[in-house]
Amino acid sequence: MDCLFCAIVAGDIPSRQVYADAAAVAFLDINPWKRGHTLVIPRRHVDDLLAADEALTEIAAAINATARLLVDRLGADGVNLLSSAGAVAGQEVFHLHVHLVPRYADDPGLRAVTDRVAGIDLDEVAAALAGAGSSGGAGR
Ligand code: AMP
Ligand code: ZN
Repeated sequence: MDCLFCAIVAGDIPSRQVYADAAAVAFLDINPWKRGHTLVIPRRHVDDLLAADEALTEIAAAINATARLLVDRLGADGVNLLSSAGAVAGQEVFHLHVHLVPRYADDPGLRAVTDRVAGIDLDEVAAALAGAGSSGGAGR
């Protein structure tokens, strides 16, 4: 199957991985809405949250651990979760992913979630998040 996120899990396409466990991988979104915008995905291919009832449960621990990491390492004041199922919902990559969006007091509110912040240095953010728990392995 030709899937971008399966290729990231396999390490065939580089990513800035910030967390991983047996079921899930978390890596920085390449075009972030906010500093630290991270995607959490299951290692196995699932199209979206409607495609397999248990898939979200499988990655729940990784979602929690990554959210905690974003607060502890980046100083986020809050976090939004978003997962789109289906093109009509805005899904563009058809491998289940949960957007974890750190939020900061100087840019509050639900309507501002997808307003991009200019000039985010992904390598700097990855360095700030490096070395957590069971992160490492594929990616960089
Ligand atoms: P969605 O629109 O919910 O399907 O989200 C797909 C997300 O994947 C977007 O926010 C993209 O910026 C992100 N994305 C696409 N390609 C990559 C990549 N190679 N590495 C990291 N994130 C990516
Ligand atoms: Zn996939």
